[in-house]
Amino acid sequence: MLHFVPDFAYFEPNALEYPIGQDIYKKMIKLGVPISYTTSHNRITGIPGKSPNEIYKNAKKTLVVGVRKTLEFDTSKPSADYALPLSTGCMGHCHYCYLQTTLGARPYIRVYVNIDEILASAKKYMDEGSPHITTFEAACTSDPLSTEYITGNLGRTITFVGNEPLGRLRFVSKYDDVRSLLVLPHRKHTHVRFSLNSEYVVRQFEPSTAKLEARMTAAKLILQAGYQTGFIIAPIIRYEGWQEGYQQLFVALSHYIEKDAPVTFELIQHRFTNVAKKYILERYPKTKLDLDESTRKYKRGKYGRGKWIYQPPEANELDQHLRQLIDTHFKNATIEYFT
Ligand code: SF4
Repeated sequence: MLHFVPDFAYFEPNALEYPIGQDIYKKMIKLGVPISYTTSHNRITGIPGKSPNEIYKNAKKTLVVGVRKTLEFDTSKPSADYALPLSTGCMGHCHYCYLQTTLGARPYIRVYVNIDEILASAKKYMDEGSPHITTFEAACTSDPLSTEYITGNLGRTITFVGNEPLGRLRFVSKYDDVRSLLVLPHRKHTHVRFSLNSEYVVRQFEPSTAKLEARMTAAKLILQAGYQTGFIIAPIIRYEGWQEGYQQLFVALSHYIEKDAPVTFELIQHRFTNVAKKYILERYPKTKLDLDESTRKYKRGKYGRGKWIYQPPEANELDQHLRQLIDTHFKNATIEYFT
């Protein structure tokens, strides 16, 4: 099982006044993690490293335990109505990860101790949205599974949403320790998705994430536990031999998931922004990620922030190939979208 084991832990003011904060403190002591105190995560200094890149890597091994002050949730369309903030940052080093842009120079992993207040806020959103169902995405700013053994907050949220007729939860993960989730009263209100990719993409671009087989085993357990289960195949990348690479992925997946399982698939082609390209090349200078704008199409986004996606014929080829693989291996699957 791959977990986030920090090299350093910082506690923000008041974090230890919450039972979860005290519990995390005891766990850090047990793990032998050095503990410091900070007035705010914005003021953390002293993360070791001789270069910005080394500091970046060490920051990704740093846990910050704090009280979530902003209890207003961002919208999270089209995946869900709102982003539910359980944690921020991730131990993974996926070269293409959008958190590189959104978290910039502060990639440490922040977890929040005031989960009751966060869930009370979620309840308010559900009441406002009544009689319609309100959906929450818990993986907008982190991969919440890698820190679950530290906080237990994902499990608390699953149980909470399970008790809410008008609440639904979604999250996606590249990690595998689902043991604590298997016994929860989720009442099918939580949709768990695992992010999968071809062996080549995982090996080249996803350091510090769980192995493919481990993610597939976790997906099998989650499905057996009755959760709504799915897969995000992302980013779908064209490389020498991509067709066979994705074919092998689906053959492997069919050894874990029954052919008639009602699983979902979300298909996302690789894209990058100009800002992301700059960060990726700074942090992973030897990356083999294809970031050549001249082979891509520019798709304009909100506020002038566009991204480079594949040219339509190439994107179509990806879409068709993946759909065909899904049709071959999973007869009751739903393909939610290709983008
Ligand atoms: S596991 Fe997910 S959140 Fe973490 S670095 Fe990789 S893509 Fe980003």
